[in-house]
Amino acid sequence: MADVHLWKAEKNGKNKSSAIWNIIRERGQIVSWTSLVWSSKIILRHRFILWLAFRGKLSTRDRIFAYMDILDANCVLCSGFAESIDHLFGGCFFVKSIWNLFTLAMGIVSLPGSWEDIKVAAQVLSKGSKYHANVFKCGFDAIVYHLWAERNARVFGRVRRNVDHVWSDIVFDCGALIRTWRRIPKSEREWVLCHEWKVNYDEVTSFKCFKAN
Ligand SMILES: [Zn+2]
Repeated sequence: MADVHLWKAEKNGKNKSSAIWNIIRERGQIVSWTSLVWSSKIILRHRFILWLAFRGKLSTRDRIFAYMDILDANCVLCSGFAESIDHLFGGCFFVKSIWNLFTLAMGIVSLPGSWEDIKVAAQVLSKGSKYHANVFKCGFDAIVYHLWAERNARVFGRVRRNVDHVWSDIVFDCGALIRTWRRIPKSEREWVLCHEWKVNYDEVTSFKCFKAN
């Protein structure tokens, strides 16, 4: 029998670039928080910071202190405790105030107190593609991004913002993305969510708006 070429990525006589990519790439471990971090319902520039936060790779002062001397290793948001990722997103009173505003806006009773438990709870609450879960993803990631941005602003001596100011930036960012979503169900729960995130409910649920976009 004559030699013939045989491509692994060939299907019905055609090579598919997606199949080639799947053959040549190295597959990493799939982690439980993938769908929360790499969701299209999250603002693009926020995803990278959330990814670093979930991997514990943000350059918090406890990590910097491990390889170089720094004058102050305390949290810049509360100045009372050593800065670590667990403190920055879990134990800090500044952060707790933001999580409280978030749970109020989402209609959730509360989130756990530690960052490890918050991450687990967030994966449960963001499951699925319902409007509520999507708003949760967007808000959760915006909080991590803006807390890290506020921390950096204080470290590098820029303007210090209070809890209300940071929260209004989070709502502004999320509202801008949520306004682009369509096919939002018409119900009281969605109306309340739109109200909390300063999104015009009539605009995002109207047929006219859907058609125009
Ligand atoms: Zn703190």
